Amino acid sequence: MRKSFTDLLKHSLQGKVVLVRVDFNTPIKDGQVTDNTRIKASLGTIQALTNQGAKVVLISHLNRPGGKVVEAQRLTPVKNDLQDLLGRPVMKLDEAIGPAVEKAIQALNDSDVLLLENIRFYREEEANDLDFSKTLASYADYFVQDAFGAVHRQHASTFGIAQCLPAFSGQLLDKELNYLTQVLRSPDRPLTAIIGGSKISSKFSVLENLLQTVDVMVLGGAMVYTLLKAKNEEVGTSLVELDLIDKATSFLDKVAALGKTLYLPEDHIAVTNFSDPNTAQTVDVLSPNQMGVDIGPKSISHIQMLIESSKTVFWNGPLGVFETPEYSKGTFSVAHSLANATQATTIVGGGDSIAAVNQAGVADQMNHISTGGGASLEFLEGKSLPGISVLS
Ligand code: AMP
Repeated sequence: MRKSFTDLLKHSLQGKVVLVRVDFNTPIKDGQVTDNTRIKASLGTIQALTNQGAKVVLISHLNRPGGKVVEAQRLTPVKNDLQDLLGRPVMKLDEAIGPAVEKAIQALNDSDVLLLENIRFYREEEANDLDFSKTLASYADYFVQDAFGAVHRQHASTFGIAQCLPAFSGQLLDKELNYLTQVLRSPDRPLTAIIGGSKISSKFSVLENLLQTVDVMVLGGAMVYTLLKAKNEEVGTSLVELDLIDKATSFLDKVAALGKTLYLPEDHIAVTNFSDPNTAQTVDVLSPNQMGVDIGPKSISHIQMLIESSKTVFWNGPLGVFETPEYSKGTFSVAHSLANATQATTIVGGGDSIAAVNQAGVADQMNHISTGGGASLEFLEGKSLPGISVLS
């Protein structure tokens, strides 16, 4: 059994050093964090620990520096943002191990917060080097895993370290797992999954696993055209993965055998020239010279109706090329329909869907926004995630 954050809080934490693996892998531009969603998501864990007098030492990665120091990928901008959000000083070091780190940790007062440098500056991190994990562990009394976005990685700070210290999940990780487990195991029904995105190849495993649990599956985005092609429908010049037609056919057979409702868009926004939105038309069936770039108005209404009649909705992936305003209506309408769904628990995962709910200004109307795109999909595929299984 995984030891939860509540289990950790039963210990006396006054003066104890708690190493917390957070996911502060945030976008940074001109030395400023441009989206602090992930920082905000771990505030609850940090505050609960400082409230109990723990000395909190934070570990995070940022981008992919590849095991060497990359000046532009230091965590300093994150420290500034965290400090503002916490409303208390946060110390930040330019290293994550070594004498300076040891000294700084020894000098911490109760309830202090210290952020170590980007852990991926050390090649030992991604190599899951045991000595590196042991060094990190030697600084602390407890380890807390709160980096949901990184738990599908078997790295020193997500896996190895949990073998060297009493290890617990953080408040955010517990919340993520509660919502996602609910989707797989005990959803309020009907459960609808809305899955979009460009490539069906990257989503097949999650579609097949979700098919076991959902009542209704709604698909959108370019991946739909591989399925429509498998059904011998005209897909024009849309993005199709031709090598996956057989797999798409067997997926459709599985849907039928399980008696699940699969909703594929019944109309499309189609263009003859991708770069020219003036060529866009709403069609039920594409012409050979057209490319599907978004779902059409009938599909939007139908999906809205499906959302309204659901008790749980999980959404991952855009329903069209939402980066282009003229092709974004389907994706944003899903964001708004979820916001208006009064009877459904709404769970959103994946970078593009999260960007859409943020841009639509409805993020705070979702029940849960997952901080881990890759991790949430792997979890929903039914895979065991190293950073979580190691906590058991
Ligand atoms: P993924 O990374 O597989 O989740 O796909 C996300 C990408 O799918 C976004 O960048 C969208 O622009 C793209 N996308 C969604 N619908 C379509 C479509 N109909 N044609 C081409 N690309 C699409």
